[in-house]
Amino acid sequence: CLKNVAKYNKYANAFIDLVQPEHIRSQAAEATRRWASGTAKSAVDGAVMGYKMNFCTSELRTTCSSAMLENFKAPYTATAIKLLEDAGVIMGGKINMDEFGMGSHNVYSIDGPARNPFGITARTQEETADLDTRSAGGSSGGSAAAVASNMCFAALGSDTGGSVRLPASYCGVVGFKPSYGRISRWGLVAYASSLDTVGTLTKTVDDAQAIYQIMAKEDSKDSTCLTERQRKTIAQTIKPIDLTMFKDQDVKEKPLLGVRVGIPQEFNVAELAPATKDLWRRGIQVLKDAGAVVIPVSLPNTKLAVGAYFTLGTAEASSNLQRYDGIRYGHQSEKKDENDALYSHTRSEGFGKEVKRRILLGTYVLTSGSFDNFFLRAQKIRQMIRNDFDRVFSRQNAITGSCGDNLEDPENDITRVHALLTPVAVSTAPKLKDVIGDQIDPVDAFLDDIFTIPASLAGIPSMSVPFGTCTKDGFPMGLQVMSQYGDEDMVFKVARVIE
Ligand code: GLN
Repeated sequence: CLKNVAKYNKYANAFIDLVQPEHIRSQAAEATRRWASGTAKSAVDGAVMGYKMNFCTSELRTTCSSAMLENFKAPYTATAIKLLEDAGVIMGGKINMDEFGMGSHNVYSIDGPARNPFGITARTQEETADLDTRSAGGSSGGSAAAVASNMCFAALGSDTGGSVRLPASYCGVVGFKPSYGRISRWGLVAYASSLDTVGTLTKTVDDAQAIYQIMAKEDSKDSTCLTERQRKTIAQTIKPIDLTMFKDQDVKEKPLLGVRVGIPQEFNVAELAPATKDLWRRGIQVLKDAGAVVIPVSLPNTKLAVGAYFTLGTAEASSNLQRYDGIRYGHQSEKKDENDALYSHTRSEGFGKEVKRRILLGTYVLTSGSFDNFFLRAQKIRQMIRNDFDRVFSRQNAITGSCGDNLEDPENDITRVHALLTPVAVSTAPKLKDVIGDQIDPVDAFLDDIFTIPASLAGIPSMSVPFGTCTKDGFPMGLQVMSQYGDEDMVFKVARVIE
């Protein structure tokens, strides 16, 4: 990891703050001793991980890639990271991101954009500098870039509307967003609290599962984190697939026997690049070959998802970001005495363009004049989108008990599915020069997230799995696997066949 950081970080601009190499080496040596004596703490004891800049750690800064928190050092470490540390994971450093998680290309960062390192390991740095630099995706672009260039074994990102899955697709790594509430968010700086999740970026589905399992625990410090009781209920509700009607030999050979996978027709949008469509088709074939039954399904409210997300997300952000007032912590304007306007000077100086835009939009949709028309409507749309998912899944939602309608036994309805397969992004990573500065209309940029946002609104688990490269430009593309709330195991099972 250290060698690769020395080789690639200058280009990728992924790690912003690094732990001292001697410190990493001595922790690694201890882990090696534990492995040798059979006392390893977990399967990932001694692995080096990087953490997105919005995870609080008592060592190194937690800047959220914002001037507002440029010198902020958290007094405590996030629960998710504590759990990883208990399992022997070594922190390599803190990673670049879009300011406060707002963006899709990691270009809104005080540290400059992260760069897509795909293919970099095969080339020298000089050669790479000549290439047309591509976006690493965002907002966890740095996390995806760090894993893609082997600077760390895995990285944590956060996913509010697709921030782990989009960069994963662009950089050719596995990006996993678990069900909302599975992993504690205590110590993850809030963007939109009803949507924020801790996510992982890894090389393989197995690695994603391994670190997910370490972090997926009850936490009394986060009231939205599932309790052990709720976790048990979920486990009991999700029954294993009945394989008794199949021959043993077939079950051995075909890992997806008995699994039904849905292809949501509404994801076949006009903007979809032909290469992405082709990839999706090939993915369907791979699932069929593994024994799955693949059927078309409908999620009729998909087209409303982006609008609802940016209404709710910005509203919550405008509320969450009120805490940066120049008094409690973070940046404080020097112009404090002028007209008693410390608050506005601090915020004008501390926040970047995109964050300001979102705060304004969010404040607007919460004003009394537009609350009913925008905020409440978006809440209703969110519920409709949840229902859409409940109606296509054969498993009921273990927390709400809903299956979208009054069906007695959705599990036996053969028009319902266990998982969904869709693209992650409409195309491969765009060139940075096309998404930086005023090159891109901020509203057009919202469309980068059309495929990832529905799962965020519904709170269901979703994974971006690398699935080959585009025949046109040679850059990687991922496919997205989603399943019912709490059914992470189904995502792992289907994703494993695709990777
Ligand atoms: N790109 C989306 C946004 O800008 C998603 C961000 C995220 O998931 N943090 O809000």
